[in-house]
Amino acid sequence: MDKINAIITNNPVGGVKYASINAGISSGKSIKLKPLYTGLCGTDRAEVSGSLSFTYNPPDQDYIVLGHEAVCQVIDVGPNVYGIKEGDVVVPVVRRAGQCVNCRIGRPDNCSDGENDIREAGVRGINGFMQDYFYDDIKNVIKINDKSMVKVATLTEPTKNVMKGFDVFDSVSKRTLFENEDSTYLNKNCVIIGTGGEAFLYAFMAREYRMNVFLTNRHDIGDYKKKIIDTIHAKFYDYTKEKMSNKIDLLIDTSGDPEAIIKFTEQLNFNGVLILFGTNGKAPAWQISGELINYIVERNITVSGSVDGAKKHYLKAVEYLEKWNYSENSVIKNLITGEFKPEDIGIFNKKPADEIKSVIKWY
Ligand code: NAP
Ligand code: ZN
Repeated sequence: MDKINAIITNNPVGGVKYASINAGISSGKSIKLKPLYTGLCGTDRAEVSGSLSFTYNPPDQDYIVLGHEAVCQVIDVGPNVYGIKEGDVVVPVVRRAGQCVNCRIGRPDNCSDGENDIREAGVRGINGFMQDYFYDDIKNVIKINDKSMVKVATLTEPTKNVMKGFDVFDSVSKRTLFENEDSTYLNKNCVIIGTGGEAFLYAFMAREYRMNVFLTNRHDIGDYKKKIIDTIHAKFYDYTKEKMSNKIDLLIDTSGDPEAIIKFTEQLNFNGVLILFGTNGKAPAWQISGELINYIVERNITVSGSVDGAKKHYLKAVEYLEKWNYSENSVIKNLITGEFKPEDIGIFNKKPADEIKSVIKWY
């Protein structure tokens, strides 16, 4: 059996190693893929620290290959496979459909039996993408046509979450008239809690709606992040020092912190929408008052969770990343704040200062 190098953990116990493992075999899977870049996110770090109880290794393995954000090159194509050739660049999807009705209609992101049904590369039950090569089915990849996009395309997976988040916003905001009387979203206020990778991608997209975009955190942020925020005409404020004077129309949380979420929900406008996206099972509990319930009810405020995204959201992510790659001096590239080698496994234990997105280069 061929040996390859991979970054592995043991779910749900944790730990991280750059180790030699048995290479996968094609077993009917149609394409062979070599990662070019893989991205790191909080989920990888939470797996390594052993704090995600819902994660598990593939059957018959005492480890799982990490990584669910990747851009890969096609290095071999099986027989009778059309529409893809050697040398093509693709992004593999994370979540693999199960048997429930949502999975069967192509929406594993809305799986109705998550615990038992779906599998997720690098997280639950199937190996991830941080390995020298692997095999996959053509139906699980999204082609990147513009090869100048290779590195930026590492952001496709986190961006697809944002496309789903806005899809949810589009649906739920229809229950009342959310737009202005001139049919636009101009000057609606969108506040994003958090200043990490997903928060920045949400900011890029909120701007496409022409809303006033604010990112906020409970501390100040460095000049590097501030410069990007300034370039995209968004604003940052430290909410321990300042408060929005206007009501918030769309609130997006990427912190998962109940205290912050409750504080901001009290500032939502009539017919406002709150998208809950961040998750932090370790955040302390925080009480919700009867007054706040009244506030939400009386204003027809909608609170919606949003997880993952479907293949259509990956396609939309690629479209917008292409657009952003060619506008504003390609400031989207600045979201990639660090490039590491596969052996630099220390980055799984410690987030570099001012990190937005760290990537690992595999070639
Ligand atoms: P991240 O870089 O860790 O971002 C989280 C951000 O929230 C950080 O900027 C953090 O600030 C900030 N934060 C934490 N507590 C806060 C508070 N009380 N007030 C204000 N800001 C606070 O992670 P990410 O990759 O961008 O992901 C964002 C969140 O979404 C994570 O919770 C992740 O688990 C979750 N997620 C959800 C989905 C989904 O499908 N729903 C998919 C991927 C990720 P500091 O670090 O500066 O303190
Ligand atoms: Zn399902």
